[in-house]
Amino acid sequence: MKRLELLAFLAAAGCAAQHPPVLTPVRIDTTRSAAATGATSPPVPVRTATGVRTVATDPLSRVDRMEWQGPNMFRSGSGTPGPEYWQQRADYTIAATLDTARQRVSGAVTIRYTNNSPDSLRFVWLQLDQNLYRPGSKGSMLFPADSRWGVRGFRGGYEIDGLQANGRAAVMHVDDTMGRIDLEQAVAPRGGRLTITMNFAFRVPEHGSDRMGRDGTLYEIAQWYPRMAVYDDIRGWNTDPYLGQGEFYLEYGDFEYAITAPAGYTIAGSGVLQNPTEVLTVAQRERLARAARSDSAVAIITNEEARATPVAGTKTWHFRAQNVRDVAWAGAPDFRWDAANANGVLAQAYYQLAKAGKAWEQGAEQTAWTIRNYSELFFKYPYPQATSVAGPVGGMEYPMFVMVHYGNPLDDPRSIFGTINHEHGHEWFPMVVGSNERRYAWQDEGFNTYINAFALERRTPGTLPYPGYVTNWRQTVDNHVDAPLMTPPDQIDARALGALGYRKPAAVLLALRDNVVGRTTFDRAFREYTQRWAFKHPSPADFFRTIENVSGMDLGWYWRAFWYSTDVLDIGIDNVGMRQQEGQNYAVVALRRYTSVPFPVRLRLLFRDNTTEDVALPVEIWSGGDRYEAVLAVKGAVIGARLWPEGPVPDWNPTNDAWGAPVPGVTTPAPATSGGLSGEIGARAAP
Ligand SMILES: [Zn+2]
Repeated sequence: MKRLELLAFLAAAGCAAQHPPVLTPVRIDTTRSAAATGATSPPVPVRTATGVRTVATDPLSRVDRMEWQGPNMFRSGSGTPGPEYWQQRADYTIAATLDTARQRVSGAVTIRYTNNSPDSLRFVWLQLDQNLYRPGSKGSMLFPADSRWGVRGFRGGYEIDGLQANGRAAVMHVDDTMGRIDLEQAVAPRGGRLTITMNFAFRVPEHGSDRMGRDGTLYEIAQWYPRMAVYDDIRGWNTDPYLGQGEFYLEYGDFEYAITAPAGYTIAGSGVLQNPTEVLTVAQRERLARAARSDSAVAIITNEEARATPVAGTKTWHFRAQNVRDVAWAGAPDFRWDAANANGVLAQAYYQLAKAGKAWEQGAEQTAWTIRNYSELFFKYPYPQATSVAGPVGGMEYPMFVMVHYGNPLDDPRSIFGTINHEHGHEWFPMVVGSNERRYAWQDEGFNTYINAFALERRTPGTLPYPGYVTNWRQTVDNHVDAPLMTPPDQIDARALGALGYRKPAAVLLALRDNVVGRTTFDRAFREYTQRWAFKHPSPADFFRTIENVSGMDLGWYWRAFWYSTDVLDIGIDNVGMRQQEGQNYAVVALRRYTSVPFPVRLRLLFRDNTTEDVALPVEIWSGGDRYEAVLAVKGAVIGARLWPEGPVPDWNPTNDAWGAPVPGVTTPAPATSGGLSGEIGARAAP
């Protein structure tokens, strides 16, 4: 325990200098304690090296709800979109050309923007992501040039000309990866329209921060056209720049886009191909029709056909994607292309066999599997197709389209499944549930990693993702790179992003489901959140409030512990004593909470006759402080006791979890998802 306290202290001390807590608690509601004392401000939290520490106070009666905005007509106190919820809309028409000789993309974009907000907009902001590759950009200075997000010395950025707003010449004020257009006439509230047109061009980086790029003749193109920044009711314009590590926040709309590429190229992209008769052969179109009815993969371009034979001229591929936040695409002259039906969705894989390896011959089947399974578990996949492309990008998601790394040298299909499963999981978070990824990685990567656990256990029964999630979280504490989950991802130590963006949130959601809310209710609540906020912009508070309202629980203590602080759970048994009164035996179990984190306690008692009895104590036992004496009527003398007898709770220190004689229980962590998800929304997949 001491060692662990010390570790926790060191960890936070290590990160405190670099990562001060960003979110200041602000009181927005009142409770009994504030009312009773007449206090006008919440109890001053004791700030320690481990964050907001409340050991000595009452962690359950805190009145501040962190930075949650007050309920209003846009977002209700129950976590639903309010009666006057609004959201902007951005529809795009793009015509672009891929010049493989000059490694450039150039094109023209028309953005039709609808201002549904109650505000007049005298200026608008756009995202100019390619400016990350301008020499001296903020991101290129922040992330080491040779790192995953680094620009590797590449010199690029946007060239933009011909900018017009509503048909009049306009000027863009460019600040790094953001651009502001001042408007001659404000865009009217509640339905006002603005049309922006411009030409854009950029050189394609070889290593596009692991989110786009090229490898020889293969191009994976994303963050490629100027995109509208999100204007919302929480912050107005969301102008956090693109630095590399933080992802995206985008408006929904419909896209028409056309890619002109060398005639020998095959283009894969978000949306549905609109001109198959112009770009595909008769045989390819016939095979596609067959694939749409086939549960096993059909080769659209066979191995024999996937040869880069130079063809003169160009071809234009025309795609349409509806109700999406973005579009991305890829092109190569020698793609193999497989497709299969996944409950009416066309699941596709594009890969250059020599680089991708034979593992990718399973790519279409794996894609189909993920789409079918997440549709059954969480929310029906709303789009007509899902594409996986093999390439140098390690794993990146876009609507209907994901980039996945090449297979391993052993051609093991399992070498790509984890990433295909993860990237397509993103079709639900954040493609359908459009949260602000640039500020809250946990609502995107964390939720996705949470749902990945169910898919992984379904795909390979016996897989236990949960212990690995906790181990990774522990590494950030041990390596002094921990930070609260609420930390914007660009401010998370790059070494901790995998844990804090992905695995800790997944672990604490699984722990919440198993130990606090209960599986059936949590599954109900999580699906409610997904449905409420599909194609919308949920804030963290909308998630917290939805879980609390469906479960009927005030979980402020849980969010505070695991989202807003870096403290860890450590509850132990100090002692077990016996007493007798009027012939009845009572066990007195002295429990201690060593950190600021309260938690409901599950306890197993062992008696002399080798029988056991389980006791569940609610989290409210900690409202009086960090000690609790449970007085329990029992049948006889207790000779042993242990915490968490049924397995995994993220208790940091197991050495103080038992007292007396050894008590039987689960010693290896059971899968937190064991038993699957309750009340699946569709039929189970065939095994
Ligand atoms: Zn991800």
